[in-house]
Amino acid sequence: MHSTYSLQPIGILHSPYREKFGIPRQPGLAPHALASVTLLPPYNQIDSVRGLDSFSHVWLIFAFHQTAGHGWRPTVRPPRLGGNARVGVFASRSTFRPNPLGLSVAELLGIDSEHGVVLRLRGVDLLDGTPILDIKPYIPFVDSQPQARGGFVDGPPATLAVEWSAAAAAAVQRHQAQHPELAALIEEVLAQDPRPAYQDNPAREYGVHLYNYNIRFRIDGQRAYVLDVIDTCPHVQGTPAG
Ligand code: SAM
Repeated sequence: MHSTYSLQPIGILHSPYREKFGIPRQPGLAPHALASVTLLPPYNQIDSVRGLDSFSHVWLIFAFHQTAGHGWRPTVRPPRLGGNARVGVFASRSTFRPNPLGLSVAELLGIDSEHGVVLRLRGVDLLDGTPILDIKPYIPFVDSQPQARGGFVDGPPATLAVEWSAAAAAAVQRHQAQHPELAALIEEVLAQDPRPAYQDNPAREYGVHLYNYNIRFRIDGQRAYVLDVIDTCPHVQGTPAG
């Protein structure tokens, strides 16, 4: 007999990623992605995280809320295989799963408790607003398996070189005070080559949204070229992730 479970968010994640496009496909690939988890009542008491600050990393269990309800198939086409070959959904980290649950490790920078309870993190691969269902400490001697085989994702992905136009370099400089990590984050995100696997048009211009900035870029061969960094809310102070 099957039981049913009801899962309620225990927190909400805030990140620079305002849309799926451009989010690295796994955590840690963009270490300058600063993020935070704000615990929700009744979990937003400091007792809930007592002892957690002695760990450098945490596991986040979360809902793929933006694709939940979009269904699932027994096989998927991972970007890592060029978007052509199929593997089983349970051999993948696809967001389209029978239960829309995700699992990411993140570096824990600190815990603030002045206004509620907020975990400061970095290196996440999660959309702003992602519901967090659970948080657990990362335990290196259990969770790290250096001899493990990585199947069809053995090793980090190849990365692109990132170059800046004068206009983009000047624009990012103007936002330095508000987001000192913005230039590094842009480089980390574009180096991952956010384009869908089947697209290779050096003339095509793309936009990735980080915070309230629209990062315009093109990709030619192994090089990403940042064309501009456009502030989409110039009258509003950008929402910090933390
Ligand atoms: N590390 C997690 C895992 O293995 O379960 C997530 C891997 S999944 C391939 C990462 C991608 O999920 C990101 O590149 C982004 O496109 C997507 N994503 C992130 N947050 C999401 C959310 N809240 N809802 C739907 N998709 C999301």
